[in-house]
Amino acid sequence: MIFGVIEVKVGHRRYALTPLSHREAQEIEAHGDCSFLSGRIRVDEGLPQDAQAEVLVHEVLHALVEDAGVEWEDEEHIVTVLGRRLAAFIADNAGLMWRLAEVLVPVTMQDFEDCIREGDGR
Ligand SMILES: [Zn+2]
Repeated sequence: MIFGVIEVKVGHRRYALTPLSHREAQEIEAHGDCSFLSGRIRVDEGLPQDAQAEVLVHEVLHALVEDAGVEWEDEEHIVTVLGRRLAAFIADNAGLMWRLAEVLVPVTMQDFEDCIREGDGR
């Protein structure tokens, strides 16, 4: 659980969010990791919370790249550059993020309810 959230859904996969001890982070020489095979994203719990958020965004971007099925030789660099900027964008536009969630989530819930109704044969 990271920031009180157990998992995130990225494309068709769910990733468990688990803390990474600072000692483990030093051993793997990274502040986080994302494993498509095990469905797990870890973030160094020894970092300040804003840095943990940036690492989480970075790892989710790795999951998005995997979900997209693309392979980039310089994926780490691209994800690092975009992750920092996306984390800053989210921080600078928190009101917009809330509004986007309000707009997007009800549509998803309606689609979900439609699927349930269709499944019941109603
Ligand atoms: Zn990375």
